[in-house]
Amino acid sequence: MGSVKRRKFWGWGYEGEGLPDDRIESLGRLAGERLRVPPPGLRPAPSIEWLNLREPRLRPPTALAEIFSAGKWDRAEHTLGKSFHDLARGIEGRYDNPPDLVAFPRSEAEVAQVLEWCASVGAAAIPYGGGSSVAGGIEPEVGEDYTGAVSVDLRRLDRVLEVDAASRTARIQGGVLGPSLEDQLRPHGLTLRHFPQSFEVSSLGGWIATRSGGHYATLFTHIDEFVEGLRMITPAGVYETRRLPGSGAGTDPNRLVIGSEGILGVITEAWMWLQARPVFRASAPVTFARFEDAWQAARDILQAGLWPANCRLLDHDEALMSGAGDGSASVLIVTFESADHPLDAWIGRALEICRDHGGAAPEGAGTTSRQEDAARVGAAGRWRQAFIQGGHLHDAFVRLGLVMETFETAITWDRFPHFHAQVVEATRRAAEEVCGAAIVTCRFAYVYPDGPAPYYTVLAPGREGQQVEQWAAVKQAASDELIRLGGTITHHHAVGRYHREWYDRERPELFARALGAAKRALDPAAIMNPGVLIDPPR
Ligand SMILES: Cc1cc2nc3c(=O)[nH]c(=O)nc-3n(C[C@H](O)[C@H](O)[C@H](O)COP(=O)(O)OP(=O)(O)OC[C@H]3O[C@@H](n4cnc5c(N)ncnc54)[C@H](O)[C@@H]3O)c2cc1C
Repeated sequence: MGSVKRRKFWGWGYEGEGLPDDRIESLGRLAGERLRVPPPGLRPAPSIEWLNLREPRLRPPTALAEIFSAGKWDRAEHTLGKSFHDLARGIEGRYDNPPDLVAFPRSEAEVAQVLEWCASVGAAAIPYGGGSSVAGGIEPEVGEDYTGAVSVDLRRLDRVLEVDAASRTARIQGGVLGPSLEDQLRPHGLTLRHFPQSFEVSSLGGWIATRSGGHYATLFTHIDEFVEGLRMITPAGVYETRRLPGSGAGTDPNRLVIGSEGILGVITEAWMWLQARPVFRASAPVTFARFEDAWQAARDILQAGLWPANCRLLDHDEALMSGAGDGSASVLIVTFESADHPLDAWIGRALEICRDHGGAAPEGAGTTSRQEDAARVGAAGRWRQAFIQGGHLHDAFVRLGLVMETFETAITWDRFPHFHAQVVEATRRAAEEVCGAAIVTCRFAYVYPDGPAPYYTVLAPGREGQQVEQWAAVKQAASDELIRLGGTITHHHAVGRYHREWYDRERPELFARALGAAKRALDPAAIMNPGVLIDPPR
C-alpha cells in the first residue's frame, strides 16, 4: 500500500522516527541507577527480513483484489498493537497471528463489500484505525472457528466531509488520524480538541470504538462527549443515528456504538461536536512535598467546579522520570484555556486551593497569556515533551530489555487512599518477585469531581526472552487487586483481548447477554473482531 510515510511494522510511529541510540542508552543508565542494576544493553529493533509469517489462508475476491494486500509488511504491521505485550513479542519476532489479508477500502460501499465477502467465506473481520491499541484490540487472534482473518484498515477514509459552522460540528470519516483531522479543521478556526497521547497515529473511528480519553480534557474527557451522530457499516446493514444536540428518546443509539471495539461493525463516519481554538491560556506547575496533599488539591479544584483543561498530577518518581521534577516533590500541572475570556480568576482560585494544601507555585504564576506556547515552558513543558514522546519511550525501554508497562483505572475519592496503597504494594511485590527490583509510579491521567483516574507505570529489569511472561505475572497481580478493590480494568485503554479476564468480573452478567443479543442482530455470523469484549454468540 503506497503512502508517503510508511508506518513502522514494529514500534511507534513512522519509519525513520524514534529516539536516537545514544539517548536510549542514557535512559538505560538512568533506569539502571534507579533500579540498582547494571545498565542494560541495547537490542536492535526487528527487521522485516527476520519475520516468518504464516502463509495467507485466504485469497482476495477478484472483484475487490485491488483493495486487498497480502504483502509481508502490511500483514506484519497489522499483527500486533502497541502494548508491552505486543512490543516484547515483536522484538523477538513472535508474529504468530498475522491477518491473512489486509483490506484498504476507499468507500463505505467497499467496507460493506469486504464484510459481505468475509461473511461468505467464514473469515473474521477486524476494524483497524491507527493500530495503537494497547489492549490486544487489533490482533487477529481469532481461533480455529474462522477460515482466516482480514484486517480492515480505514486509512483511506480520512476526510472532513462537511463543516456546519452554525452548530459548530463536522461530519468526519472514521479513518482520519489526529494530525490530519486537526489540519482539516484549522482553516475553519475549529478543533475537536481531543488529544490522546497516541494522537499522531490513532483515528477518529478508533477513538469512538475504544471510548478514548483525550488530554487537556478535564471537563470533556472521553470522546463520548463529542459524538453528535454516527454511521456504522454492519454485516446486517447501515446503522445510522440522527444528528441531535440532545435527545431523551430511549436508550441512546450512539452509546451502543461508542466503545463497541469493532465487534458490531465498522464506524465510517461521525458528526462531531467541535470547539473554537483556544486563545487565552493560564498554566502553573505546583509542587507538593507530600503526594496526599497534591491529590487533595486536585480533588478540591474539581469539586470547586473550575474545570481546568489540564489537572495532571505526577507523583515524586513520575515527576523525576518525566523531567518535570527532581524527585523531591509531586507536581500538579494546572492549565486553563479559553477561546473567549481571560482566565486569571480561574487560575487564581486554583492556586489558592493548592496553597491551602501546602502547594508551591513558581513566582509570577497565575496570569493569563495569549501565547500559544504558554503551557509549554518550564516543568509543564518538560512533562509535555516526555508525554508526546511516550510511544517512542516505550519502544526504547523494550529495546533495553526492561519490563516497562502502564496500567490505568478509576476509583472514587472515598476509596482512593486505600486502593492506591494496596495496588502499588501488590504491583511492586509482584514485580520484585518476578524481576528482582521494580519502580511503580503514579500519575492522574484524569480527575473527576467524584474520583481520579490513576495511571501506573511499572519499570523493572527484564530477563532475556522472558519479558512477556514476567509482565504477564505482574499484570495478573495488579489487575486482580484493582478489580478486587472496586476499580475498573480500564479507564480509557479499552478492553480488547488483554483485559477480558477482569472485564468479565467487572461488568454485569446480564449486560454481557444483552450486548451479545445486540451483536447477534448486527453481526449474525459473528465475524466482527471475535474475542474482543465478549465471547461471540454463534
Ligand atoms: C503511546 C500510546 C499512548 C496512548 N495514549 C492514549 C490516551 O491518551 N488515551 C486513550 O484513550 N488511549 C490511548 N492509547 C490507546 C489507543 O491509542 C486508543 O485506544 C485509541 O483510541 C485507538 O485508536 P486507533 O485508531 O489506533 O484504533 P486501533 O488500535 O486501530 O483499534 C482499536 C480498537 O478499535 C476498533 N476500531 C478501530 N477503528 C474502528 C472503526 N472505524 N470502527 C469500528 N471499530 C474500530 C478496533 O477493531 C480495535 O478493537 C495510547 C496508545 C499508545 C500506544
